Amino acid sequence: MSDTADAVVVGGGTVGAWCAYFLRRAGLARVVLIEKGFLGQGASSRAAGVVRMQGGTPEAVRLGQWSRRFYLSQRDEIGTDSGFTEQGYLLPCFTESEVAAAHARMKMQAALGVAVRWLEPDEVDAANPTLATGQTLGGTFCAQDGFITPPRNVAAYTVALIRSGVEVREHVAFHGLGSAGSTVETSQGRIDAGLVVLTGGPKLAEVGRLAGLRIPAGGVRHQVAVTERHPDLDPARVPMVFDLAAGLYWRPEEGGLLFGMSNPDEPPGENREVDEEYLAKMRARLAALVPVTAGLGLRRIWAATIDYTPDHLPIIGPAPGLAGVTVACAGGAGMMWGPGVARAAADVALTGSSEVLDVSPLGLDRFDEAGHSRLATDPIALPFPERITSS
Ligand SMILES: Cc1cc2nc3c(=O)[nH]c(=O)nc-3n(C[C@H](O)[C@H](O)[C@H](O)COP(=O)(O)OP(=O)(O)OC[C@H]3O[C@@H](n4cnc5c(N)ncnc54)[C@H](O)[C@@H]3O)c2cc1C
Repeated sequence: MSDTADAVVVGGGTVGAWCAYFLRRAGLARVVLIEKGFLGQGASSRAAGVVRMQGGTPEAVRLGQWSRRFYLSQRDEIGTDSGFTEQGYLLPCFTESEVAAAHARMKMQAALGVAVRWLEPDEVDAANPTLATGQTLGGTFCAQDGFITPPRNVAAYTVALIRSGVEVREHVAFHGLGSAGSTVETSQGRIDAGLVVLTGGPKLAEVGRLAGLRIPAGGVRHQVAVTERHPDLDPARVPMVFDLAAGLYWRPEEGGLLFGMSNPDEPPGENREVDEEYLAKMRARLAALVPVTAGLGLRRIWAATIDYTPDHLPIIGPAPGLAGVTVACAGGAGMMWGPGVARAAADVALTGSSEVLDVSPLGLDRFDEAGHSRLATDPIALPFPERITSS
């Protein structure tokens, strides 16, 4: 049986779902979203939710700004929202070279309109009374950065998809494209589509392979935990913090701290088992910086597979050789960039360019045969592996 649609979007995570919503809102009559499981079953429901405009490159800043504005507008636009909380985000520096890099970044961010400021060491301690004193050489702070609640974001896009009339097909897997590129083969038949957008988060390379594309995107285990409550961890006293060199970040969560840390030696591939040994390292680093957490139990621990690209930047662009097919990936930052990536991908699919940002450097053509990017790596990123799994 064959079916038709103006656009088919593959993947019901934050990138695919918001993209389908934007395509429908742009006026396409029939937009079909196919998801092999259920909406949000991938990385999008399992994230920590950090939303940061303090990006390491102009592209990262623009995507963060756009996505934050989008989160703030959702209640008016859709009637529900992703739970954005403006918590403030501190990026402390521990070495002189980090201080120099932070000042250069701040200049770039401020030129793009981010209200970021430098805090001297005593100001860092005053702004963050749970931090062990005298540890930092200062840090950058943006009061407008914050976090969303990832499951709430899944609920928000589910509502948006239904209200806008996107046809959501759960438990339908993408199997490939017909020779013209515009026929989508699925586990439940064929759809002739005007446009196709491929997403897949940590599974994007596999989705790409099914479409005959080499997409250098990977997936790797990332672990997050939440401590018990403690009066010192009242959200009014705790900004979000990113200890960039260690890859450790934390934010308030229901009276305790939610913290995540990336293991740079983690082998690429799907893995959702908790790594107790690495959890002990995470806890030790957190306790060194936030001593009150040392004696606290944990209320939740989870591990999930996070998406990444070799340069930690998103992929937004046409699929080479396949007319009407667009590829979109948030490069492991789908909470802070996802809606911006989704909107830019929808724009590229419809018109070839986007007002969210200049996507021309962010396409698949930036990677060589081995998957190396010709762009500089985003310096504000978790230390994911830079090689890509072949599975
Ligand atoms: C533990 C953890 C913490 C994180 N914390 C943060 C954070 O604090 N801030 C931040 O910005 N980002 C964070 N991220 C990253 C963020 O969650 C991802 O970048 C984002 O969710 C990716 O969205 P996506 O839609 O591309 O992928 P996903 O949400 O993974 O969605 C892809 C979907 O495609 C579907 N799919 C795959 N193959 C097929 C197929 N063949 N046919 C049909 N459907 C298919 C999958 O089932 C899945 O539902 C975190 C991720 C993890 C795992």
